[in-house]
Amino acid sequence: MDQGEKIIEVVGLTYVYPDGAPALKNISFVVYAGESVGIIGPNGAGKSTLLLHLNGLLRGKGKIFVAGEEINQKNLRKIRSKIGLVFEDPRDQLFMPTVFDDLAFGLINQGKKEEEIERKIQKVLSELKLEGCEARPARRLSAGERKKASLATVLVMEPEILLLDEPTANLDPGGRKSFINILKNLSLTKVIATHDLDLVRQVCSRVILLDKGIIVAQGGAADILNNTSLLQAHSLA
Ligand code: ADP
Repeated sequence: MDQGEKIIEVVGLTYVYPDGAPALKNISFVVYAGESVGIIGPNGAGKSTLLLHLNGLLRGKGKIFVAGEEINQKNLRKIRSKIGLVFEDPRDQLFMPTVFDDLAFGLINQGKKEEEIERKIQKVLSELKLEGCEARPARRLSAGERKKASLATVLVMEPEILLLDEPTANLDPGGRKSFINILKNLSLTKVIATHDLDLVRQVCSRVILLDKGIIVAQGGAADILNNTSLLQAHSLA
């Protein structure tokens, strides 16, 4: 995909959890290839729910196109190979006995050969400076290493789009800085749900502000982040 092409298009997305009020109400937006878009909003705004729709883990009313293809029941596997989600809690991502096994999991499912699996894993471990962690179980890593290992399980699949849910939650200042630097250096399209506005300022060029399941504002990151009264009105300042 060349920069400037629509890589995600969401049209009239509405979702109601089985037990509740609508979590997303008629959401429409576009993400262009190569962009980093921040989805900001207070707790309960619908940010996580939106990310879960973008890779087909939840199915609401409306249409979602990823790399030109509408998500449906039949193409979920293909869609998920293009758009990878890094969960807020690494425990949702890392469940195998070792980090190596976690990284190999998706590649084995794709039927990749052992040599190729080994090569791809070593490449991503080296890019994320995680060499030496592969033989360890994720629970023995530091929070920062665990977060990177979580990202590694997604990157090793070579997606076109990276979805990140609250990527800096629970990281200490050093781990947070290091993770933000990694995100800055990744050139693939990114959609980041967070209320860490400094992260958005450093990584994102565009922002969508979500509150109570509705897009209340979208625009250039600097414009939105400098609009103190807008941020205050949505519990973000
Ligand atoms: P955010 O990520 O912005 O904090 P969420 O997407 O988690 O917001 O939540 C949006 C709304 O959906 C909230 O009202 C929340 O209580 C509700 N919600 C989230 N997850 C569930 C769930 N598994 N079951 C029922 N309601 C949920």
